[in-house]
Amino acid sequence: MSLRSPGYDRSSYATTTLFAARDWIAGRMQAEGLTVSTPNFTMNSPGGSITRQNVLGMWTGTVTPNEWIIVGAHYDSRNGNANSTTGTPGAEDNASGCAGVLELARVLVPRQPGRSLLFMCYAGEEQGLLGSAAHVQSLTTNNHLARVQAVVIMDMIGYSADTQLQALYESEPEFLSYMQRFGAAASTYVPQLNVVYSTNPFGSDHMPYLNAGVQTLLAIEDDWDIYGHYHRSTDTPANMGPNAQAMGGAILKTNAAVLAELAGLLPPAMFSDGFE
Ligand SMILES: [Zn+2]
Repeated sequence: MSLRSPGYDRSSYATTTLFAARDWIAGRMQAEGLTVSTPNFTMNSPGGSITRQNVLGMWTGTVTPNEWIIVGAHYDSRNGNANSTTGTPGAEDNASGCAGVLELARVLVPRQPGRSLLFMCYAGEEQGLLGSAAHVQSLTTNNHLARVQAVVIMDMIGYSADTQLQALYESEPEFLSYMQRFGAAASTYVPQLNVVYSTNPFGSDHMPYLNAGVQTLLAIEDDWDIYGHYHRSTDTPANMGPNAQAMGGAILKTNAAVLAELAGLLPPAMFSDGFE
């Protein structure tokens, strides 16, 4: 969580500032040794149809490259006026999740996982999960849906109203045991984190994958609905408050442990050399 982006306005309706964020994320993924692409999708805007891009950083697995794990978060943001292209800092919603995607790439990729890992940042989330839906559509079109073993989506992982750290994991009832792996990892590696589950998923980039029947969950901090700067021009790093590093770090360490297992790595080895 030590990375700091230049803080671009990232409305999906914006141009220069959104594209700068896209390119910054792509550069970070490239620096982690991933093969980066920026697939187009089209979406509606107040001025008509526009083309925007997801950012995809691919690690090709060393053992079973056709078994894929997806780690995703949306990089677009908004404020109280859904059409505004300025004043959209989106620090908690959702620079926190994108920083998480990049941090997980940083700790997992150098260990050369046996399965393939697709690190993704989506645009168009705030207008209806459009980037993640486009990715699921391309998986379907290319006959790659069956390759996807598991998906971890992060949306708002850094705010905690107090020092009691609580994470909410959300999925469909059929994937309860998948969610429980994250609770078990937290008890083992992040005992200060309380994990709760919801089997009533909604509202973020986990939905298109779940609707396609893929084993998917959303990781979100459990105070998100009382975050006073949600979808406001005041959603800045400073306003995330003093617990942000601890909160985001706890969710990321939990996710890293499960992703390491899913990707064929040993989490204890990963945590013995300074991952925080
Ligand atoms: Zn969000």
